[in-house]
This record gives sequence, structure tokens and C-alpha cells, in this order.
Amino acid sequence: MTTYFNYPDAAMQDELRKIANAIVSPGKGILAADESVGTMGKRLADIGLENTEENRRKYRQLLFTADKSLGDNISGVILFHETLYQKADDGTPFVELLKESGIIPGIKLDTGVVPLMGSEDECTTQGLDDLGKRCAQYKKDGCHFAKWRCVLKINKNTPSYTAILENANVLARYASICQMNGLVPIVEPEILPDGDHDIVRCQKVTETVLSFVYKALADHHVFLEGTLLKPNMVTGGMSHAIRFSPEEVGKATVTALSRTVPPCVPGITFLSGGQSEEEASVNLNAINKFQGRKPWALTFSFGRALQASVLKAWQGKDENIPAAQTELLRRAKANSQSSLGSYSAGSVAGQAGEQGLFVKNHAY
Ligand code: 13P
Repeated sequence: MTTYFNYPDAAMQDELRKIANAIVSPGKGILAADESVGTMGKRLADIGLENTEENRRKYRQLLFTADKSLGDNISGVILFHETLYQKADDGTPFVELLKESGIIPGIKLDTGVVPLMGSEDECTTQGLDDLGKRCAQYKKDGCHFAKWRCVLKINKNTPSYTAILENANVLARYASICQMNGLVPIVEPEILPDGDHDIVRCQKVTETVLSFVYKALADHHVFLEGTLLKPNMVTGGMSHAIRFSPEEVGKATVTALSRTVPPCVPGITFLSGGQSEEEASVNLNAINKFQGRKPWALTFSFGRALQASVLKAWQGKDENIPAAQTELLRRAKANSQSSLGSYSAGSVAGQAGEQGLFVKNHAY
């Protein structure tokens, strides 16, 4: 082990710091629209649409043409490879549409999870081969940040040491390769909400996992000021008998983060993890309201909890596009308020509202 190492050079540090800070500027968060082709297929099937490239393009066009004011509450959008190169009906590349609204394009870089042999159904995430080349190309093509999702599972004997160590290490390799290429890495070690565990167990697992992640990032000389963390909120398992209150979630989440995430990290952008739209907004609000040490911005990087009402309102029909876009703008605004601790529960009722969005063993 050496203590002689370098961080990225000063110009690169400036660039990474600026991007990360812009993404978590007050009242802003991320729209995760990087569903893989397979996952998008499930969302489209729910509204009776075929999983064609054109239907996926039309849906993403709906999102990105909602209104320029989307950029007041959304600072970045995570894209899937296919979407990055798609265009609106009038030929404008989606990347340009986002930039016109002041939204920073980002890209999903992982290529999904694979099993860890001999484990109790645990996994690691692939995509490191040729990652440097892909990062360089995506940066050229207009992306400034990236996402890589790792998945950990709470069970009687899991997460195992092997899964915790392997996933921390792969996240650190990914983060360092991103930074070499001018992309801010969003580091996402998602602890799935599947299970009947209580909130205390989730908090302890979250603390353990995050401590391994930050040790690995340090070992790989990742410049933390130019990173963002995308964790789960600390909640009870989906099949636990009790639903913990937003105040309990706020306290457990901030406590776990304050014990493990260095204060130089500019922001924490939560995933919604199967919570309903309203629940995710209320919990994010409680996290921000919790009176404790919170040296980072605490905001959203929601997929399902920003899109459920949009899809429900759209139903694949052109005449419903304005109503669907209104749902997106309203939910983005609600979550913006939550990120400032000023959301009032129930004040923004979407078409999907309290509908649970939990998917067992969720893949993205
Ligand atoms: P959900 O908000 O639907 O959990 O997804 C966010 C995400 O980007 C997961 O990688």
C-alpha cells in the first residue's frame, strides 16, 4: 500500500466539482430515465404498449419536451445509451433539448448485474471492460455525469463480506475511470428493500456497506468532491409488519449517512426504490427536516417515483401528452420542495399517488 498518489489534476478537479455542485444546487435533483430496453418494456406493457424503439423514443420525447421550466427543478437526466442518440420529431437531438432547459445529460454505464458464484443469490455489476473508451465517447457526445448501480440484498446471511467488498471495489474502479474522462460518477450501492427486516437492520447494513464504499473510493484515489452518492433511504423491508414513519426514516437515514459519508461529498441523490411517489416525496422531506449534521445536499434521483403518474396519464395516447407532462412537472416540483424540507404531505396528488411501485428483486 502506498501513500504516494495523485488526485486528478487541478483543471479536472475544477471541472468535476462544478458539475457535481450544479447537479445538487438547491432545490434541484435528477430524473433517472435510464431504464434499460427490458425494463422500459415492462413499463410500456403496463399501459398496453409494445416495446419498440419508436415507443421508447416517443415516451422519452414526452419527458424531455415537457416544458423548459422542468429545468427549475431537474438539474440532470440519466439516459440509457439508445436514448442519448435519439431525436425529437423535429430532428432536435434529445441532448440538445435537455441543454436548452439547462439540464445536464448523464449516462448509465453499468451493463447489469450477474450472480456471485456460491453466494446466497447475491450479485455484482458488470461493465468495466472498455469503460474508459465508452466514457471518453459519452463525454464527447455531451454527457457530464454517469451512473453505475450495484445491488445488495438483506437476508439472514446477507449481504456477505464478499458481496460488500466486491461491489465496493467495482464502484471504485468505475468512479476512477469516470473521473479520468471528465464524468462525475454517481456511486449507487442500492440495498434492496426486499425482506421482512426492520429499520434498525437496514440502518446497520447501510452503514456497513457505505463504510466499505468510501474505503474503496479512498484506495482508488477518487476525488470525492467530484462524486455523488445514490443510496437507498433507510427504511424497513417491504414485507416488515410495520411501516416506519417519515420521521423514523429521516433519522435513520441521516444517522447512517453522517457516520459514513465524508462531508466533502457535495450531494446525496436518493433512489426511490419502490416507494410510491407520495411516500418518496414525504420521506425525502423528512430526511431534510431531520435536525442533525447534514453537510451534503440531500436530494432525489428518482426513476419510478417521478414517472409512475406520467405513464398512467399518458397511456400511449397523443391527446394525453400534455396531461402526462403536467404530472412530470408537478412531481418534479414536489420533490424539489422535499429537497428543501418544505414539502407539505398530500399537497401534490398525482394520478399514481400512493400506489406502491415495489418490484421484487428489482433490475434496472
Ligand atoms: P428508482 O427511483 O425507480 O428506484 O430508480 C432509480 C435508479 O436510477 C435506480 O438505479
